[in-house]
Amino acid sequence: MSGLPQYFAPIRLAEHGEEIVGDIAVSQMPRLRQSLHDGSGTVHVTLSCMPGENGITRILGNLVTTLKVECQRCLGAFDLPLRVAIDASAAPASISPAGEADVIMRAEDSLVHLAGFVEDELILALPLAPLHPAGRCPVAEYSASRAPARETPFAALKKLKLGNGSP
Ligand SMILES: [Zn+2]
Repeated sequence: MSGLPQYFAPIRLAEHGEEIVGDIAVSQMPRLRQSLHDGSGTVHVTLSCMPGENGITRILGNLVTTLKVECQRCLGAFDLPLRVAIDASAAPASISPAGEADVIMRAEDSLVHLAGFVEDELILALPLAPLHPAGRCPVAEYSASRAPARETPFAALKKLKLGNGSP
């Protein structure tokens, strides 16, 4: 981690108007790593906080990264560029915001683990079944070019019927 704190305090960032900017290695995110081909690459993090209503602090920012994922069609690895906009909320455990479904952190000490937070956001943003972009998947190209040449079962049946019908 280059210059990034391990934890951040949303309330303090909001009070001081500070911004967190830096890179986190993908290899530091073991849960995200499970969904990837390998743990190479870094995530560029930009975060800032602002006071919200009822003691809730909003966390805003974005993550920019390129993750090495596996295509679920051909199982080949490819680079998936991701840009994730962050709009989350943090509230201390003493506050129970009713109906605030998007409040994700309720740490007693109001500290948020930075890598864990970034990891959660990336897991949510990652497609469930990553696929090569259109025209780049060898399996899709193979079946597309072969399909017209193959005889369909209906064509075979038609031929069979014609054959039986002729004297
Ligand atoms: Zn593929």
